[in-house]
Amino acid sequence: MMFNSKDLNDSKGMPLYISFLHLLFPSRCLDCKIELLPDEPGVCVFCQSGLEAISLPVERPPHLTMDTVEIYALFYYKKQGVSQSLLHTMKYSQGRSLCVVWGRAFAQQLSLHSVESIGCLIPVPLHPKKKFLRGYNQSELIAKGILAEFPQVHLNTRCIRRINHTKSQTRKNRNARLFDASCTFELIPEHLSAYQHVGLVDDVVTTGATLMGIINLLRTRLPHIRITIFVLAVTK
Ligand SMILES: [Zn+2]
Repeated sequence: MMFNSKDLNDSKGMPLYISFLHLLFPSRCLDCKIELLPDEPGVCVFCQSGLEAISLPVERPPHLTMDTVEIYALFYYKKQGVSQSLLHTMKYSQGRSLCVVWGRAFAQQLSLHSVESIGCLIPVPLHPKKKFLRGYNQSELIAKGILAEFPQVHLNTRCIRRINHTKSQTRKNRNARLFDASCTFELIPEHLSAYQHVGLVDDVVTTGATLMGIINLLRTRLPHIRITIFVLAVTK
């Protein structure tokens, strides 16, 4: 898998934008620490080749039970690999620009067909306190990157709220995690009344519990709405 920020800029004032990106990104590769070229988005081309690209849409991983939902993802998530370095930086190390650029790179792999009937993208929300402490929601920035390629689609950050802090889920079994997730979110249906098809956006799917919580909520309250999932990475 090879991306550079040159691919993300076509003919619109590219040199200035690339220079700006180079100022924003760490000058060294997140994984191997080699110095980056100006158009490498946080990860050098060698380490990008370590990302296992996914053919779209994703063949559903066995631990996900989203029967009637289509899932699009960019690469597979592996612990201790470049995918982990990239996603960790996006989430915890002020990786705002990385989120947007990789969201846009993701969008460039999507066919118009996969997006054309979608009215809005819904980033998986953070609890307001967590968003305040982090300063941003990585899923929202990934969604903004996607929307840079599909400007006809709206960003919808008002229809779902996270109402509980999520504690560590590692010691809970799958049913407990799914129950927790469905109690974690609140739906405000009036902010979805204009839409028949929505896209849920997240950075990575591991257990699937968070997305299942939101999907179950949508299915219960607004069963007519079609749902497509867009995540940068998914575990096998
Ligand atoms: Zn590298």
